[in-house]
Amino acid sequence: MSFYYQKILIITAPSGAGKTSITKHLMKKFPQLAFSISAATRSPRNNEVNGLDYHFMSEETFQDKIKNKEFAEWEMVYEGKYYGTLKAELERIWANKQIPVLDIDVKGALHVQKQYPINTLSVFIEPPSVAELKKRLESRGTETEQSLTARVNKASYEISFKSHFDKVIVNDELNKACAEAETLVNNFIGQALQEGHKND
Ligand code: 5GP
Repeated sequence: MSFYYQKILIITAPSGAGKTSITKHLMKKFPQLAFSISAATRSPRNNEVNGLDYHFMSEETFQDKIKNKEFAEWEMVYEGKYYGTLKAELERIWANKQIPVLDIDVKGALHVQKQYPINTLSVFIEPPSVAELKKRLESRGTETEQSLTARVNKASYEISFKSHFDKVIVNDELNKACAEAETLVNNFIGQALQEGHKND
């Protein structure tokens, strides 16, 4: 059995706080990590590849998987759009003797933490401010007026949950935030198997 057996790394944040950039940085640095490819019912963006960025699927297929208890967690992250972590994805990564990295929303992260309290590290990436987050989302250019407003409103709510996570990194400067994340993950990978979350 691998030393990393059934460890989970959760990177969570409001949308636009930079968690994807930080996750990508960590993936490059640590070959022990493997990105957990979520199931999602939204349409792929231009540069996204099915089976690589997400397992894109119809709502009907997603609902079947909920009924069959195939998800470790799932959420309707945005109105009518479902996202979920497949148990099979975690098993696949563990079988490869790697640590799954879950880039998921705050509610989903809270669920995973509850369900897998042992050997899970959860990191909350905090934007410097909600105004800054709005600016970043606008410059990314992937949002409509409506989805931008939805993401900004949701962000304020999500920031109120930051104390539920093991570690908080304020992303005011990406390089600095990446370095902080690197230190945390380095410690996590090197850690002996531990008891679990004391606050749960
Ligand atoms: P996007 O549509 O921008 O790719 O993702 C929207 C949000 O859904 C992001 O906050 C992303 O982290 C989150 N997300 C992606 N996969 C999952 C998942 O499997 N479960 C949950 N709960 N959220 C997810």
